Amino acid sequence: MRMFYALLLAVPAFCQPRLLFNSSDLDRIGKVTATEPWAANAVAGVLRRADEWPAQHVREYGLTEWALPKEGAGWSHNYVCPDHGVRLTQKAGKNLCPIDGKDYHGWPVDYVVFMQRNNDTARAARDLGLAYRLTAKPEYAEKARRIFKAYADLYLTLPIHDNANKLDTRSGARVMSQTLSEASWLVPLAFGYDLVRDAMPAAERGRFETKITWARATGRAGTTRRCWPPASSPKSANWWTSLSTGRVGSSSRCANR
Ligand SMILES: [Zn+2]
Repeated sequence: MRMFYALLLAVPAFCQPRLLFNSSDLDRIGKVTATEPWAANAVAGVLRRADEWPAQHVREYGLTEWALPKEGAGWSHNYVCPDHGVRLTQKAGKNLCPIDGKDYHGWPVDYVVFMQRNNDTARAARDLGLAYRLTAKPEYAEKARRIFKAYADLYLTLPIHDNANKLDTRSGARVMSQTLSEASWLVPLAFGYDLVRDAMPAAERGRFETKITWARATGRAGTTRRCWPPASSPKSANWWTSLSTGRVGSSSRCANR
């Protein structure tokens, strides 16, 4: 994926209101992939991941079908065996200690897997959006819309919670358990949304933008206070929150709604 971003950024071209991709990129990518194997491999990787979603996600996490986690996610650093202090390994829905193979469930370990699933799903939205723009095949947009609709239904039903599962704290978030994690989830999701937005009905676009992007960025639509970004955030958190807020603003085209 790193190589694909290098391809996107090789010649900046922002003649349309796209975050990282516009129609001129198609011609440029077509030319580069025709002569550069690394570029062809990068594009093939995006298309393969888009084709394999959601089957790959369902297999990796041991699900019966694709769905979003119904509760807010937990903190990555809690994915640790309480007996041995080593990081667990997620395998088809099991959270295994690498030392004795014991399978752990409940809070907090299952909720860390929720975090992994949300991140994977946001990256899938990005890949599906790229695949849609690279091929113009509507099935990629249809799969991405499934993700955006699911998050629009879910987002504001999740309480703001933090890494210790305390509610409505200053560092908390909804899909994730801290604003930094929520920002890093939102960045690829907003990129994917920007790529697919034109293939979505207006009502569907408005629902996603109201329920998630603007609610997240401004604290509107039922949130109890502005929490973006927290004053105590480390620099990395502020960088991610600023980046995601910028993507939200660009992708939702608020001036044109
Ligand atoms: Zn252990």
